[in-house]
Amino acid sequence: AKEKGRNGFQFFDQQMQLKAERTAYIHTHIKAGLENNEFELYYQPIVNIRTATIHRAEVLLRWHHEGEFISPDEFIPVAEQTGFIVQLGEWVRKEAFKTIDLFSQNQLSVDLSVNVSTMEFWSPELQARFLASFDDTVRELGLDYFPYHMLTLEITESLMMQQHTNIANLLQTLRKRGIKVSVDDFGTGYSSLSYLVNFPVDQIKIDKAFVQKLTDGHRHIAIVEAIASLSRSLDLTVTAEGVETKEQLAIISGNQIDMVQGYYFYRPMPKREFLNLLFEQAGY
Ligand code: C2E
Ligand code: CA
Ligand code: CA
Ligand code: CA
Repeated sequence: AKEKGRNGFQFFDQQMQLKAERTAYIHTHIKAGLENNEFELYYQPIVNIRTATIHRAEVLLRWHHEGEFISPDEFIPVAEQTGFIVQLGEWVRKEAFKTIDLFSQNQLSVDLSVNVSTMEFWSPELQARFLASFDDTVRELGLDYFPYHMLTLEITESLMMQQHTNIANLLQTLRKRGIKVSVDDFGTGYSSLSYLVNFPVDQIKIDKAFVQKLTDGHRHIAIVEAIASLSRSLDLTVTAEGVETKEQLAIISGNQIDMVQGYYFYRPMPKREFLNLLFEQAGY
């Protein structure tokens, strides 16, 4: 048993070593990756199941590096550790704004949800930078009018748990322009429902880890019922994320949750493909 334990530790050491090397690799290449146009935005449609139409899409960052595809679950945490997430986030918003402009020029009324890292709101300086870069981007695009109502920012629960009045103020400033705020990954952390009352938010997204447990039993379904009914009382829109099966869809739909994102309908896709899908839906 002793020997087995030692091997176990050795295995653990090797995993740690590999992970550290991978992190170092990403750290070394991510900045040049942005300069070399290796990043691309993908779009995952979110379906309104009552009307069977696509109303919005989540913007998801992709990194193609030297013939390899590196997952955001790998590079986002590294970008957060090094602070590079700030530049990366600004790039994502710039590209997303271009897409919003393109949709609006083509009379396509589809909203985009963009992920924002907690790190981007870390300090008062970063919060000020966020707002300034936001305005710079709109100005750089040379738009007379930017359709703010077509933009949703997805933030995670952990940001709200910090109860920073600064962050609440920043979100309130953005909401006054028409931007919507969505709570991502709802149901995973220690979801304190009280912050939903105090924090300026418009929507919540039930996390895929949670949705995928729905078929495990009644307790999970009971929680979804509670989330759905609470959201209705608070006038919040609910989106269920990670819906893959008919069974999951039936439970979601049975709880009057209308917005569904997941492989059951669509996977994230490149901009061109998403645009074609929208044109098709519009009957062009
Ligand atoms: P997230 O914000 O929770 O995004 C949803 C993730 O679930 C995406 O993974 C999406 O592809 C995946 N997904 C959607 N439907 C299904 C389904 O039916 N089954 C399964 N198994 N997965 C599904 P992705 O694209 O790999 O992104 C992972 C995470 O990386 C995101 O999780 C988000 O936290 C982060 N991320 C992605 N793009 C950005 C970005 O532009 N900025 C920031 N800050 N984070 C981002
Ligand atoms: Ca998200
Ligand atoms: Ca999520
Ligand atoms: Ca997530």
